[in-house]
Amino acid sequence: MVPAGTTEWVRRAEAFVAENQPPLGAPPGSRTPQNPVQLADWAAWSQRLHAAGLATIRWPTEWGGGGASADAALAVTAVLAAAAMPLSLADIGVNMVAPAIMSAGTAAQQDRHVPAIRAGTAIWTQLFSEPEAGSDLAALRCAASADGTDWVINGQKVWSTYAHIADWGFLLARTGTRDERHRGITAFLVPMDAAGVTVRPVRELTGHYDFNEVFFDDVRLGHDYVLGAVGGGWQVAMNLLIDERVVTGRNIIGLQAELDRLTSLAGNTLDPVTANRLGELCADAIAIAAVGELEPAPAGSDNLAKIAFSELNGEVHQTAVDVVAADRYDVPAGWAARWQDSYLYYRGWTISGGANEVLRNVIAKRVLGLPSA
Ligand SMILES: Cc1cc2nc3c(=O)[nH]c(=O)nc-3n(C[C@H](O)[C@H](O)[C@H](O)COP(=O)(O)OP(=O)(O)OC[C@H]3O[C@@H](n4cnc5c(N)ncnc54)[C@H](O)[C@@H]3O)c2cc1C
Repeated sequence: MVPAGTTEWVRRAEAFVAENQPPLGAPPGSRTPQNPVQLADWAAWSQRLHAAGLATIRWPTEWGGGGASADAALAVTAVLAAAAMPLSLADIGVNMVAPAIMSAGTAAQQDRHVPAIRAGTAIWTQLFSEPEAGSDLAALRCAASADGTDWVINGQKVWSTYAHIADWGFLLARTGTRDERHRGITAFLVPMDAAGVTVRPVRELTGHYDFNEVFFDDVRLGHDYVLGAVGGGWQVAMNLLIDERVVTGRNIIGLQAELDRLTSLAGNTLDPVTANRLGELCADAIAIAAVGELEPAPAGSDNLAKIAFSELNGEVHQTAVDVVAADRYDVPAGWAARWQDSYLYYRGWTISGGANEVLRNVIAKRVLGLPSA
C-alpha cells in the first residue's frame, strides 16, 4: 500500500480537529492531566488521536503506522498545534519505547506491547534518571540481581514523567558492577503495578504533578521482562530511533502557534516595544525551524535546535506573561492560564532531554573538536 501524502494527512488532521476539542485541562506539549476526570477525558482523546492514525504517523507501515514523511508529520503537527491540541498520553511509548521494542524486543514482547502502544491504550514512563545519575546516566545504581530465573530490582528513580498514570515503565537497571559503567546496564519492561513498585508524585513550580519519584523494593520480574541482551541496556536506550527532526520540529511548531496567538491578540494596538520584541522572537523561531529543515542535518544540529528552542521558549513565555500583566489586551482566560503555566515550566525544557550546558559541551567537543578544559 502506498502511504498517504502530505495533503491527505493534513486533511485527516483537520477532520480530527473539527471533530475533537482539546481534552479537559490540556496545556500544549507533553503535560499531564491533574485529576481522574481530566485523565479519563485525555486518555479517551488520545485513543481517538491514535485511531485516526495521527499519533503513529511516522511508524513504518509494517508495524501498523502511517509510513508518512517527516514533512507530512510536521504539517500534521502544525494543524494540531494551531488548535492547541496536546500530545497523546502514549507519546513516550510511541516515540521511545515502541521503536526500542521493534528493534530489540522478542516476538512475544512485540506482540504484547506494540499494538497497545499503537492504539494509545498503554501509557509508558521512562525510568532512567536517578538522584545521583542524570547528566551522568552511566552512574546509575538501581540494581537488578539474578535469583534463579528471576530478576530482583532494588533502587530509586526520579523525574519520571507520567509514572503516576503509567501502565508500564522502560527501566534501566544495573546488572553488572558500578565500575563497568554503561556496559553493566540492562533494559527492563516493568509493569507499574508490580509488587514493590512505589510511585510518589513530585510537585512542580507550576503547582502541578507531572513527574515522580519511583522506588523499587524487591520487585521480582521474570527474564521475559528483559529488553535486549543482559548488559546491553545502554545500547538499547541510546539506539532509539527517535526522529530528532520531527521532535524538534514539533517543539518549534508549537511555539510558533503560541507566537501567532500572541501577535494576533493585540494586533496594531501593540505598543512598539512589545511589537519589536515579538518581531525578534518570530524571526528567531523561523531561523530555528529552518535549521531543523536542513537536509542532510548538519552535525550537532539536533542539540543546537534543542538548546535554541528551550531558550526561545523561555523568552516567548516571558513576553506572554508581560502581555497578560500589562492588562491592556483582551486575553482569553485559557490562553493566559496556559502562558503562565508554560512560563513556570520553561526551565524544565532546558534540562530534560539533556541539560543545555551538557549539550553545549557535546557540540564543543564532538562537532567543533575543541579540547576539554
Ligand atoms: C521536565 C523534565 C522531565 C523529565 N522527565 C524525565 C523522565 O521521564 N525520565 C527520566 O528518566 N528523566 C527525566 N528527566 C530527568 C532529566 O533527564 C535530568 O534532569 C537531566 O538529565 C539532568 O540530570 P540532573 O537533574 O541529575 O542534573 P545534574 O546532572 O546533576 O546537573 C545539574 C547541573 O549541572 C550541570 N552539569 C552536569 N554535568 C555537567 C558537565 N559535565 N558539564 C557542565 N555542566 C554540567 C547541568 O547542566 C545542570 O545545570 C526529566 C527532567 C525534567 C526537567
